[in-house]
Order: sequence, then structure tokens, then C-alpha cells
Amino acid sequence: MARTPLIAGNWKLHYGVAATTSFLEGLLERELPDGVDVVVCPPFVSLPAAAMVLSGSQVGLGAQNVHWAESGAFTGEVAAGMLTEIGVEWAIVGHSERRTLFAESDDTAAGRARAAQAAGLKVIFCVGETLAERDAGETLAVLERQVAAVDGLDTEQLVLAYEPVWAIGTGRNATGEQAQEAHAFLRGRLAASFGRDRAEAVRILYGGSLKPANAADLLARPDVDGGLIGGASLDVDSFSAIIRAAADCAAEEIP
Ligand code: PEP
Repeated sequence: MARTPLIAGNWKLHYGVAATTSFLEGLLERELPDGVDVVVCPPFVSLPAAAMVLSGSQVGLGAQNVHWAESGAFTGEVAAGMLTEIGVEWAIVGHSERRTLFAESDDTAAGRARAAQAAGLKVIFCVGETLAERDAGETLAVLERQVAAVDGLDTEQLVLAYEPVWAIGTGRNATGEQAQEAHAFLRGRLAASFGRDRAEAVRILYGGSLKPANAADLLARPDVDGGLIGGASLDVDSFSAIIRAAADCAAEEIP
């Protein structure tokens, strides 16, 4: 099945309003290829400015996190309805930095994803093993445990992101073979829960030191349907080069 590739930029704690505006104006000046979905995920405070610049463009807007409650005593959190109100369409959930630095659990990630979808957001749900888990031969068991959180979700509004923790921000990416093995496993796990047809339609992104130099190798793998990009999404040249690589890979795919 041909899945439209998705290239999503996770800006983490980078770019306030002014920097977001100038980055996105620069991105929109580029001739972005057809046949690739593009999303950027700036920090919360920059989302309204980003929504203004991106209005009417082909670039979608995502948040880096979302809370599970609609409202309440949750200091520092942002609800899904608050995001849709300002034009946000996507939310990243379960990123490894949330899991390791902010005590995100499989259960809280599942709750965030459910609330996001209930409010109409599309979810990019992140899974991935640490280096210790990979070295211990536990990669697939970890993925199995983490991906169980998507079982109650709507697959039409779901994207998975395989992000090996040891590859995030380290400059050391998974090989194409390692990524394909993990992605095929995740698709099989989706098929067990949702059936083969729905599993085939879900996009599974690779994330972890993806950059222009390794994009073609990773994105050409049959179960790699795009990328969730951190560092390389902060530069218009490298982000747009990865978008072009995704378009080239999709064009070369045998229908
Ligand atoms: C990420 O934060 O999701 C990520 C993949 O980061 P990087 O591309 O910098 O490794």
C-alpha cells in the first residue's frame, strides 16, 4: 500500500515567536514537493504565531505534548481543546524526553493520546528502546509494551514514531536495517490489534539523528513512512532537504 510520507519537525525547546515566524516564512519560500505531508511542532507559546504564518499553506501544525484532561488543576499543562482552538492539528505524545525527563508513563501517554484524538487532534505516538534495552536484546519487548498504549485509538488519526532513545540527539542514527526491523515489528503488532488493512494504512516514522545525509537510506525502507526530526528540523535547508528526500523515495517506490 502506498502511504504518503510524513516529515514532522520536533523543535523541542527552540524558537520563540520571532524565530518561529522567520523560520516558517523561510520554509514557505521554498518550493516544497508534492506528495509529502509536512508538519512542524514548535513550543506552545509559538503555536499561535505559527498558525498565522502557516494558514492556507501545505504545512501542518503540531504541539509537542497535550494533557489528558479537558481542564482542571494541572499547573503548566495544555488541553487538547485549547490547541484545536488555535488551529493546531497534531500532537506528539510519549516522546522519550517526556518519558525520561518528565516521568511520562505508558499509561499517561495513552491518556494524552486518547484525549488528543477525542478533541480532533491527530497523534504522533512515540516509542523506542534505550541503548541498555537494545544491548540486552529487549528492543522488541519494549516496543510491544509501549505500543500497547495505542490499542484503543483511532488508527485513521494515528501516526507511530519509532525513536530509539540512543539515536535521539546523539548523531548516531539507527541503520536502515535496524529501523526496518523495528517498523515491521510495529506494523505486525498493529495488525494483531486492528487487522492487516488498518495496520497497512498507519504511517510509522523513524526518528533519531535523521539528517539529509542518511535520509534516503532510512526513508527508502518499505515500512519507514517518513521521519520525526529534531535537530535537523531547526534549519530550513536541512529540513527542506529531508522533505525532498522523502518525496524522491516515494516517487521511486514501485506501486
Ligand atoms: C526527536 O527529538 O524526536 C529527534 C528525533 O531528535 P533528533 O533528530 O535531534 O535526534
